Amino acid sequence: MTKIEINNVSMHYEIDNHNLSTLENINLNLEDGEFVSIIGPSGCGKSTLIDIIAGLKKPSKGEVKVGDEKVYGPGPDLGVVFQDYSLFPWMTSFENLYFAIEHTNKNSSKEEMSAKAKKYLEIVGLSNFASKFPNTLSGGMRQRLAIARMFATNPKVFLMDEPFGALDALNRVHMQDLLLYLWSRGNSRETTLYVTHDVDEAILLSDKIVIMTPSPGKIKDIIEVEFERPRCRSNLVKCAEYIRLRSDLLSILNEEMLDALSLQKKHMRDLV
Ligand code: ADP
Ligand code: MG
Repeated sequence: MTKIEINNVSMHYEIDNHNLSTLENINLNLEDGEFVSIIGPSGCGKSTLIDIIAGLKKPSKGEVKVGDEKVYGPGPDLGVVFQDYSLFPWMTSFENLYFAIEHTNKNSSKEEMSAKAKKYLEIVGLSNFASKFPNTLSGGMRQRLAIARMFATNPKVFLMDEPFGALDALNRVHMQDLLLYLWSRGNSRETTLYVTHDVDEAILLSDKIVIMTPSPGKIKDIIEVEFERPRCRSNLVKCAEYIRLRSDLLSILNEEMLDALSLQKKHMRDLV
């Protein structure tokens, strides 16, 4: 059972002798197998929070626990996918997968690891691109490879920071379907924290949506998404409850954007 517990996390950055408060007192629990999205204005600290949970940054205050273990640094239990793919450019698609599998499945034979890498290339439709390097793949293909790597390494939790943010609308839809298919196909679902800007994506994927305030980021609201799974995009968008939820989320976010803009204007006035 892998819960994520975020307890009283605050983060300050030191910039030119100024203390920039980025996250303030974040408390959030993800139950085992829960899919939670975070939505909030740009700069409110979403990536900082994901980095803290992934062990890539140390919070100024508070702690994160994955299962019963406090997070002290990155490790194989924490699967991450970022917007910028983070693949090794000097390795082929196959080698990128094999390398990740080798570092997380210490007891497997070479044949087993190779078979696993091939299986995941096939699942994400990249078998014909096994010997290609990331810079010769499209953005969508690179992100499919990053997703394949996350699933192939069996982490306890998934942390995803706007993974499809750079893709065109059609590719994004394909990737959302692929993610949902892979996530819900086994007996157990990985606990997932997912950052997005996209309200429709958040509703389609999530059990809960966390809305953050502009900088310094705090949790403003947590909204339950109770649509049954598996969810069908085309049925969902027609349903009255979906339309209501979407409109509620957009108006909360709109309020946040207006607050963020007035904050920016205030900072600009203070500067001149
Ligand atoms: P989001 O992902 O919500 O857009 P980020 O977590 O990237 O927000 O950034 C939140 C705030 O923290 C921004 O004002 C950003 O400039 C600042 N910030 C992020 N990383 C650093 C860093 N390493 N050093 C200083 N400031 C940072
Ligand atoms: Mg970000």
